[in-house]
Amino acid sequence: MRGIILAVCVCLVCMAVEAATPPDRQVAITIDDLPAGNAAFMDAASITDLTSRLLATLRAEKVPAVGFVSEKKLYSWGEVDERIKALAMWLDSGLELGNHTFAHTSLNQAGLKAFEEDVIQGETVTRLLLAQHKMKLRYFRHPFLDVGLDLATRREAEAFLSERGYRVAPVTVDAWDWMYARVYEDARKRGHTALQQQLLSSYLSYSDTMFGYAEQLSKELAGYEVKQILLLHANELEVDHLKELVELIRKRGYRFISLEDALSDQAYSMPDTYVGEGTDWLDHWAVTRGKPAQGHPVFPQWVIDLDKAIPAELKAP
Ligand SMILES: [Zn+2]
Repeated sequence: MRGIILAVCVCLVCMAVEAATPPDRQVAITIDDLPAGNAAFMDAASITDLTSRLLATLRAEKVPAVGFVSEKKLYSWGEVDERIKALAMWLDSGLELGNHTFAHTSLNQAGLKAFEEDVIQGETVTRLLLAQHKMKLRYFRHPFLDVGLDLATRREAEAFLSERGYRVAPVTVDAWDWMYARVYEDARKRGHTALQQQLLSSYLSYSDTMFGYAEQLSKELAGYEVKQILLLHANELEVDHLKELVELIRKRGYRFISLEDALSDQAYSMPDTYVGEGTDWLDHWAVTRGKPAQGHPVFPQWVIDLDKAIPAELKAP
């Protein structure tokens, strides 16, 4: 009897220790569509302001990040120098830049040749800026996460990227901040602060859910929680609320690591033959095994409906 009581006690102590020790989770942050998702509708001063506020949060929170550039967004009459300077601020802050193609070209839609040309065109300024900081252009992020519609094209594109010195930057957590941001920015223009608050709380809660989903799925697929890679975008929603998102992620037990560190996780060498509509890498691995992931958290329909109501001419190309 005494033995049983002791065993129960030891067990309870174990459980208490487990509950008190937060899991050592790791995540790398990547931010797409630099210098700003909405650059086509912004002047250079607003882009510089957005950049400095975003970088201030990353610096204050000591969060490393790689920003992925679409250089077409730099070309606005009379503003090119100022927009390039905004981009250089990322490197001055000790962060890194990668290529996201010149014109945000989808491999799935444009085909291999146009895609490759757009990758090359997207290197010019970013490569120069990196060289000034004694850095190399080494990361590539597929626009729309479109990695190809057939395996031959996917592999050819990957070989091309690798020959040019790139490592593909995968994504494992994606809470569609770009859609939240579009509705958020529209609400602000209309002075609808209550809606902005509603969007923020939905965004944070959906992000939390997506992290939970990625943790569960990575355990099922890799046998442990992989070093996650989060996809964000350079927009007003992140500028205003990245700090809250970082706090939420920390609360889940995460520390923030570099993309290089995340990619050292062996999970990123798991077999991946996914082709089709752009999606995250957990999905890639599940589909590769012939078992598409179940239970993906549903994105709030009301946000989709509000986004649909925004006129097409106000949406960033
Ligand atoms: Zn993008």
